[in-house]
This record gives sequence, C-alpha cells and structure tokens, in this order.
Amino acid sequence: MEGFFSKKEIDTITRPDGKPLTCITCGLYKDCKSPRMQPFGNFKRGIMVIGEAPVKIDDDEGKPFQGKTGKLLQRTLRKLGVDLFEDCVSINACNCRPMDSKGNNRPPENIEVDCCRKRVLTTIEKYKPKVIVLLGNMAVYSLIGHRWKGKLDGITKWRGWAIPDQDLQAWLCPTFHPSFIERQDDRNRVAEVIWEKDLFNSLREGMIFPKYKEPEIEIIKDLSILRKHPFKVVVPDFETTGIKPHMVGHKIVCCSLADTPDHTFVFMMPEKRVDRLPLVELFTNPKVEKRGHNIKFEQLWALNVLRCEIVNWTWDSMLAAHVFDNRPGITNLAFQTYVNFGIIDYKSEVGAWLKSTDDKNANAFNRILEFIQRPEGPKKLLNYCGYDAINEFRLSELQMKEVENLDLPF
Ligand code: SF4
Repeated sequence: MEGFFSKKEIDTITRPDGKPLTCITCGLYKDCKSPRMQPFGNFKRGIMVIGEAPVKIDDDEGKPFQGKTGKLLQRTLRKLGVDLFEDCVSINACNCRPMDSKGNNRPPENIEVDCCRKRVLTTIEKYKPKVIVLLGNMAVYSLIGHRWKGKLDGITKWRGWAIPDQDLQAWLCPTFHPSFIERQDDRNRVAEVIWEKDLFNSLREGMIFPKYKEPEIEIIKDLSILRKHPFKVVVPDFETTGIKPHMVGHKIVCCSLADTPDHTFVFMMPEKRVDRLPLVELFTNPKVEKRGHNIKFEQLWALNVLRCEIVNWTWDSMLAAHVFDNRPGITNLAFQTYVNFGIIDYKSEVGAWLKSTDDKNANAFNRILEFIQRPEGPKKLLNYCGYDAINEFRLSELQMKEVENLDLPF
C-alpha cells in the first residue's frame, strides 16, 4: 500500500549550508536522559497530539506531558471526554530535551525541529491518525513549515482551523501550547476559553474527512464555445503582467472561467478584440452570476484592458473570509485553500514569476511573459489559473453554505 509521503519527503534532507538534517547535526540526544523519546499513549481514538519538546520531568520519566503543562492538558481533555494517554498518542516536534548552558529547559530551535521532522513524519505514517492536534508554534513549524511557501507566521494565525490535510490524510488542528495558557494571568481567561474551544472543535465526533476531487481544467483556444455554453454562474480569474493595469503595455495573459466547482475553461487571452468578444459578452451578461476572490482585481483589469465592466457580481470570497474571521493574513486564496480544502501548495512554481519586479510600484511588471517562454510554461500557467478559479468557486460554495447555516436574528 502507498504511504502518506513520497520517498523524497521522508528521505534525509540537506540544509542550504550542506549539513544533513539528522540527529548528528541536531545533537540534542547526547545530553538528555531519554534520547529520541518514543511516542506515548494507547491511541484508542486515533488522535495524535504533537507538543513542542520534552521538559525535565518528561525527560526523567521518559514520557511526554508529565509536567505541570501536561497535567493542564490532561485535565482539559478530560473535560472534553478524551483521555490523553488512552485515547491519543503523544510526541513532540523535537524529541529530546533541549537545555541551556545551565541545564534549564529551553525552547527548541528551528534547526532542531527541522532535524526531528523525519521522526515525526514517520510516526504519522506508522500510526495514521485521524486527527493531529498541533500544540503551539513549533508543532505548526514541524508539520506545516516545510511545505508552506508563504509567510508561516505564528500560532495566532493557525489556531482554530480544522485542516483536512490531503498530504497527511488527517485533520490538522493547531491551537495554543498549554504552557502559553499556564502563563496567562488568572484574571484573564480569554486565551484559556479560546484554547478549550479549539480543542473541542478538533475532537468533536462525526468529522468526515473530505475526499479531494481533481477538477477538469479544459484548455480552449477558440472562445466562441463560450457563446454556446449554458453558464448560470461563472468565476473568472485572470493572470496578468502586474498588480495594477495602468502602465502602458500591461496585459491579461490568460483567463479561467469556472462554471461549476469541478470544471473550468482556461485560455490564453486572444490578442484581437474580435476574438475576445464572446468573453466580453459573457462578462456583460446580467443573467450570469459572477463570483470571485478579491473581485476588484478582475473588475479593474476588465475595465482597463478588455474595456468592459463585469456585471452581476454576487460573491467575493475574500471579503466573506474576512467577515467570517478578521485575523490578519488569512484571506489570501492560498491560505483559504489550504485551511478549507487541505491543498497546501499549488501556487509556488508559477507564483514566484507573478511577483513584481518593483515592490514599491503597484503598476510594475512581473515576469510572467518570461515564464511562458519556458518549456511547458503556458500549460503550467493555464493550470495554475484553472486551479485558482476552481478553488474560488469551491470556497464561495462553502461560505454560502456556512451563511445558510448561521443562526441569524433576522
Ligand atoms: S531532537 Fe530529534 S533530531 Fe534531535 S537528536 Fe533528538 S531525536 Fe534526533
């Protein structure tokens, strides 16, 4: 049977400075009492809990979560009907006790977690947990950090999501580390209430892991097919030569038009206006509903390049994401796609070419025209554009369902 990870993901990786990510490079095993601490717990409910690193008492006893913060975690889980050591298996992002020069506990460094990642991944592969609770920054760094191509940021951004991670085939549920809760002022229980709510959400019964369905990305050349297609809803997505279209020479390079959550048309934008007319007719048709993610982008480029207004916008999934949750840094499509659908990286190869050559000028050009000169460049760009529109469509459907399920007083 195929495993969760490709051989490449499990194999020892090398740091940019050439050192391999192994126990030898890390070295923490040399000074602790319980080196390479083993996963602990009877795992009766298929839950894995990943902490940060063993502290002194854990190291003395050879088991994770034995100290004060471990007790707090045990008590809180018990309130939710979960026994930490019967129902779960526990490991840490770093599985030997990190100590400072005086022999005190210290947090692990990123490189130590990088070295220990292979151990964590092989443990997941062995246990195949249904739910993985990630406690704190280091647990997030361990399981998401090496795969997330954007800015990782801290636990405040990641906590509270139940991510159906398609690589790991498990729900990833990040929340605060119990040591953070323990350090809070007794009079301020906000963090503790949020923590308990996150844990409750992660461990609730009946979570059905969604099966990923590969969409059909249909590449077309002649846009007249759009005239015959019975569109009711369409999610347009453009790939362009920059962020803003006001500099002479800017172009819409390609376009995707998702008409269902599982199908999209994609095409390189025709140079001649006459060949673009079926698209203009679709955009200006008030009977076809339009949805998007940050719709002002498509609207601005359509107005300036196609010389038409896209009419009958009904949903902006970026605005909706902000309304549901107003934390900073979470509304972009890559983040929303990962936390909602578990697809972590469909953007990085092309995304790098879409970065502006001048960060301070919104009208500056990116390198997309250079990218499409590369072998397979146009195909990769069209696929990328297609996935964007599909993910936007799927996200809008999910958000609309959430709104329907809200218990509103009107
Ligand atoms: S912390 Fe992990 S990588 Fe470092 S020595 Fe221990 S088992 Fe090896």
